[in-house]
Amino acid sequence: MQAPAPATLRPSDDELAQTARLLIRLRWVAGLSILLLTAIARWGINIELPAGGLLALSVAVLGYNTALLAEARRPDRPAATVRRALWGQVALDWLAMVALVHLTGGITSPALIYFVIHVALAATLLPLRGARGLALLATLIVAALAALEASGALPHIALPDLGLDGDLHRRGAPVLAALFFFSTTALTVAELVARQAEGLRQREARIRALNEARAAFSRAATHELRAPVASSLALVRSVEQGYLDELTPSQAVIIERVGARLDGLRELIDDLLDFAASREAAVAQPLLELVDLSAALADAIERERPVADARNIAVHAPPREPLLVRAEDAGLGMIFSNLINNAIKYTSDGGVVTVCCAAQREAGWVTIAVQDTGIGIPAAELPHIFDEFFRASNAKKSKIVGTGIGLAAVRAMVEHYHGTITLDSAEGEGTRVTVRLPLEDQRRAAKISG
Ligand code: ATP
Ligand code: MG
Repeated sequence: MQAPAPATLRPSDDELAQTARLLIRLRWVAGLSILLLTAIARWGINIELPAGGLLALSVAVLGYNTALLAEARRPDRPAATVRRALWGQVALDWLAMVALVHLTGGITSPALIYFVIHVALAATLLPLRGARGLALLATLIVAALAALEASGALPHIALPDLGLDGDLHRRGAPVLAALFFFSTTALTVAELVARQAEGLRQREARIRALNEARAAFSRAATHELRAPVASSLALVRSVEQGYLDELTPSQAVIIERVGARLDGLRELIDDLLDFAASREAAVAQPLLELVDLSAALADAIERERPVADARNIAVHAPPREPLLVRAEDAGLGMIFSNLINNAIKYTSDGGVVTVCCAAQREAGWVTIAVQDTGIGIPAAELPHIFDEFFRASNAKKSKIVGTGIGLAAVRAMVEHYHGTITLDSAEGEGTRVTVRLPLEDQRRAAKISG
């Protein structure tokens, strides 16, 4: 099944904000280049040019770029403001470009070709028709400038040292030829850029739609697969506990085996779904939100605690304090549940699992460690511990069930949240898994907890 893509797509807010940032970076280079080149040309190699006007232009470009940078850095700007500010940037650049062309010889200016760069940049943001219109507008602006200079309404600035001091700007044929080549170049570039940009946007929309379909499938599968297994398991348990009739010893053995297989199946479904979720998150790049990490950690500990209690394993939880990270609740839950589940699963009855959580606010990190007094991992196998489907030899020998997917899924999710994960272990002594995640601003954390 192929997801239909919309006929024309507007650039996303993210894309616009990225373009705005790129324009600001390019503008520093442009402003400084005009400044430097003018200084070198005028005072270094003594070329006659309107240095005052060009220096004023570079100062103006750097000045409005500083203002635009301050505006772009303002937090939480609505999408409409970002859009308006971007078109404002484009309009200011076109004005600066007209001034540059005028100051360097009008229609004879060697800088005329730079106008095409501006057309190309704006074409990345527009649908095809808009881009064509823009190329025509650029041609009209250049034609108007040429006409004003040819008629004498605007003084023509000659650059005699570059051989641009004749009356070329007043002669019809060279002016028309320059306009013809300028307009065809601008139109072709606008057409190519807009088509490419639109193609890319459509492909992205299709990928997004496919990912959404896949996520919907995972959610449906979660329900459809988990529910019958869970209810079968509940039924088997009630038979096992003798709620129906007393079982013969051989029936009890069979029922116990069915229960164990169903338990394994339930775990496998959970693992596969976690794994799918971690892959999906990495590909689909869903928007991350501000989440309280210590709440997710406490929930995961409480979810896993009954298993530990049943096996007399003490689980020490860290004190709760608001710690904001950019993640998803379900993703954090998956990370911590898997790590605590492993710590309990691979620890003998009566052992200890300690969960620590420490914020390094200055450095902007939070570190979560899950430590156990369990079977550990043979040193030679540690390099493979995050590989998909890898299980350590001692775990396999001990008959503890598992699929070897948990840690791979956990690592994918941690990396998706721009964090790191490390594992230290000594066979027969215990294991410590340390996760480090970027911590969000403390003041925002305080606002949420208040
Ligand atoms: P599942 O996919 O159900 O989680 P699993 O626990 O076997 O199965 P992972 O969580 O990926 O898989 O762990 C991979 C392997 O790493 C385990 O099979 C085990 O050998 C080893 N391991 C993980 N955590 C621990 C731990 N706390 N103590 C000892 N060994 C561990
Ligand atoms: Mg596991």
